[in-house]
Amino acid sequence: MKFRNFKMVDYVVYGRGCFAQLDEILAPHRKGDAPMVFLLDHHFENDEAFKSRIPLKGKDVLISADVTHEPKTSLIDEIADKLKAEFGTVSGVIGIGGGSAMDMAKAVAIMMNNPGKAQDYQGWDLVKNPAVYKVGIPTLSGTGAEVSRTTVLTGPTKKLGMNSDFTPFNQIVLDPELIKNAPMNQRFYTGMDCFIHCVESLKGTFINEFSRSYGEKAQALCEEVFLHKDEWNEESDEQLMMASYAGGMSIAYSQVGVAHAVSYGLSYLLGTKHGIGNCIVFNHLQEFYPEGVEVFHKMVQKHNIFIPEGITKGLTEEQFDIMINVSLGMAPLWENALGPTWKEQMTGERLRALYGKL
Ligand code: ZN
Repeated sequence: MKFRNFKMVDYVVYGRGCFAQLDEILAPHRKGDAPMVFLLDHHFENDEAFKSRIPLKGKDVLISADVTHEPKTSLIDEIADKLKAEFGTVSGVIGIGGGSAMDMAKAVAIMMNNPGKAQDYQGWDLVKNPAVYKVGIPTLSGTGAEVSRTTVLTGPTKKLGMNSDFTPFNQIVLDPELIKNAPMNQRFYTGMDCFIHCVESLKGTFINEFSRSYGEKAQALCEEVFLHKDEWNEESDEQLMMASYAGGMSIAYSQVGVAHAVSYGLSYLLGTKHGIGNCIVFNHLQEFYPEGVEVFHKMVQKHNIFIPEGITKGLTEEQFDIMINVSLGMAPLWENALGPTWKEQMTGERLRALYGKL
């Protein structure tokens, strides 16, 4: 048995209003006049009040990160190439937003110090050089992107992260005040990503006490905010923010499972975003996660959330094959979900039938 030696985030600041400390946190990492680059989720594009709180200095750059779709490797190259051409190097990259904005920041920070194209690094441990300094600041909670060792990207041939020891953030800023204005639907889909991380981790064959300790707590926090409470309040933001963190820690030392493996196929072919994609799939996973799906249905009902159905209607068999191939390519996820004999259990036909239900 070989145990994973797990690289974690270097620094964490947590607390309501701690975003105000960003300037002082960044100061020691500024290298001469090389700029700090702020990648801001485009949902804040017109939020002048929030933008004015970003501590821009000297040549610092504020880039609006278009997160309408999951980040593409071509977009990462475009941003990194432009920064290299204009500044040579940068002091750091700060991602402010949901999972996509944070993943973009990680990927751009890696590409500032690595040659070639982002697609060259999609996979496990392919990144050669340490990234520039990078900071993650969630404004939406659930994905666990703030603690993950990967950055999920859609490339020309695959949807896969840059999974490496150089990927985790040097610093994360967890300020529950920043997530309070998220629209309920968005908050729910992203929060369910966290809930699903917990179910997949806890019910997986890779489970261990490290992952269980985080996963049980995160799942309880998700159920507290989405099932037991009647009103959303400040405490809910705090609980969901820590659920995301703990859920991320849980899967970091185990693995996700069926919902993620299947939803990767959906998002590769149809561009479905991660949170809602997982909800669409998890909605139909009673045979794999009966208790989890039952609780999920209760939460959907309680918040009167719309989970799309019939999104694979009318697709061609070639398109189903693309999704099936992307999904079956996620071997560690299937092995976690179904054990070492997963290939015998999850055949192409069984997966075709599952995609047909979505
Ligand atoms: Zn996820």
